This record gives sequence, structure tokens and C-alpha cells, in this order.
Amino acid sequence: MEKLNDIIIIGSGPAGYTAAIYAARANLSVLMLQGYQVGGQLMLTSDVENYPGFEEGILGPPMMEKFEAQARRFGTEVIPEDVISIDFNKRPFKVTTDSGEYQARAIIISTGASAKWLGLPSEQRLQGRGVSACATCDGFFFKKKDVAVIGGGDTAMEEATFLTRYANHVTVIHRRDKFRASKIMQDRAFKNPKISVIWDTEITEVLGENEVTGLRLHNVKTGEESTLPVQGFFLAIGHQPNTDLFKGILDMDKVGYIVPVEHTMTNIPGVFAAGDVTDHRYRQAVTAAGDGCRAAIDAERWLEGIGED
Ligand code: NAP
Repeated sequence: MEKLNDIIIIGSGPAGYTAAIYAARANLSVLMLQGYQVGGQLMLTSDVENYPGFEEGILGPPMMEKFEAQARRFGTEVIPEDVISIDFNKRPFKVTTDSGEYQARAIIISTGASAKWLGLPSEQRLQGRGVSACATCDGFFFKKKDVAVIGGGDTAMEEATFLTRYANHVTVIHRRDKFRASKIMQDRAFKNPKISVIWDTEITEVLGENEVTGLRLHNVKTGEESTLPVQGFFLAIGHQPNTDLFKGILDMDKVGYIVPVEHTMTNIPGVFAAGDVTDHRYRQAVTAAGDGCRAAIDAERWLEGIGED
């Protein structure tokens, strides 16, 4: 039988690592099951300019390396595997991954959220062949090409602006006639001569046999159908919480975000949640980190309260 950990943290974004730093510094034994995509969404981000302490900004991946190094420094054990199942029925909780079964007196869930897709068969077929949900990861492959970004939030503005480093031209396609992105991000995009916008428009098909050659567009106001020739198509239409494992067990809102019932503790005593998996409003690295800190403190106090149970 595997050793009994005080806390298992599931997920390796800012919430998970901050929880690990706090819990491990409180002398608790901490195992982090990082997931196969170690580092979470920040691994798909370029410059992070709004995390305090990095006055010149820092790239997402090296930032997450620093988070991990700090968590390890205080004794956090890490395993880069996805969790397959959790037995919440009795304590200690049992958590299963590909490599085995792990036990914990308390669990902190910080599994974050993932990019949303439109759900078109053509979009799925051409993923990795011109369709991407991560400009930072794939922008490099579109040097001197024409690309499109769908969405009207901060992510769409950020991705469009980022893509102008490589692309010949970037068209932002939005389903309404107004962006929801913050003014500063919109201004940055509007000022960029390589970016243009198509308003009130949906994408009905991604065109191309083996690689993207264009998009079929539908104007929702006029009903007009048209084709936009592009070689790359980037989705920036928001995120979905990674909570499939907990459906029907933990309290969630209708979208699937975990709703804690007492501070960061969920409806199951000893199971805590932190970061984007609970937060559809702020979704920032710094708010997720703050949340991870809260969850670690809550878990520590809860463990103290139950004694050696
Ligand atoms: P978001 O704010 O939820 O925006 C999603 C956009 O996609 C909206 O414009 C929405 O249209 C559109 N959309 C959603 N589903 C669609 C569909 N099926 N078809 C077509 N369009 C669709 O998501 P986000 O831009 O990823 O931002 C999430 C959060 O992260 C926000 O709080 C944002 O401020 C923050 N963020 C901050 C930064 C930064 O400060 N550097 C960068 C990125 C993100 P409607 O407008 O019509 O709903």
C-alpha cells in the first residue's frame, strides 16, 4: 500500500503550486499529481505582465518552472500523471493514476479549465493541421500566412496581437458587433495595422482537406454566406472547467465549476478546491495563486481539527 500523504493536490497551475508551497511549509506531507500537461494554462501563455514581482514580465513556462521549484524546495513530491479516479466514499481518500494508487487525508483540487472548441467536425479533423486553440504554442508555424482568430474577449485580442509577430494578416471574427475584451487590449488590437475585424459573424465550416485553406462564414444579421481564405484558424472563445471526474459528487454550478460550501472546502469534508476550477470570473494567475493559499490554510486547519482520524 502506498504511503499516506497529508494532502494530495490535483493539478499543477498557480493554484496547485501555491497550495503545495503553503502546505509543505506547514510541515504537511504533500503529493502533487500534476497531470500530463504539467504547468496548466500558463504553459500556453507568452508574456505575463501582471503577476506582481516580475516588473519586466516573465514568460508563462519559466514562471511555472519557478513555481514548481519553490514547491519542491519545501518537500512537495510531484508525479506528472493524470488522475483516473478518486474514491471519495471514505477517508483516507484513494486517488488512482496510471502508475498506481495514492492515499491522502485531504485533497485539494486545482485542475483548472481548458479552452473551448466550436464543435464543428471540420474543426476537429483539422486540429494540428491549421486549427489551434493556442497561438502561443503554434503561432510560430504561421510565418507570413493569413490567419483568423475567433472570439471577442481578452484572449482573442491577446492571441490576435501575438500572432501578428508571425502572420501576414490576422482577421478577428466575432459573433456580435462589440468586443467584451478590456479597453486596453482592444485598443492594442485596433491599433495594429495587421489586424482587421469581421463583426456579427459565425464560422460554419473550416475548409481544407489535409490543411486549413479557409473558413465558411455566416453573417448573423444579413444571413450572407462568404468564404475567407486563411491558412490558420485560432479559437479564443473561452474555457471549460476540468471537472468531469467530480460530476455528481461535488457541488457544481450549471457550467461545471466547483462551488465550495465552506471557504474553499467542497461539500465533501476534507476535499478543497482552488483556482480556475472554481472561478469563471477572475481567472488570473494571481487570483488562482491566492486561492491555492486559502485552500492550503483551510486544509491545514481542517486536518488539525480532525486530529489523527
Ligand atoms: P471570455 O471573456 O469568456 O470571452 C469569450 C469570447 O468568445 C466572447 O467574446 C464570446 O462571445 C465568444 N464566444 C464564446 N462562445 C462562442 C461560440 N460558441 N462561438 C463564437 N464565439 C463564442 O473568454 P476569454 O477571452 O478567454 O477570457 C477569460 C478571462 O480571462 C476574462 O476574465 C479575461 O479578462 C481574462 N484574460 C485576461 C488576459 C490579460 O489580462 N492578459 C488575457 C486573456 C484572458 P460574446 O462576447 O458574444 O459572448
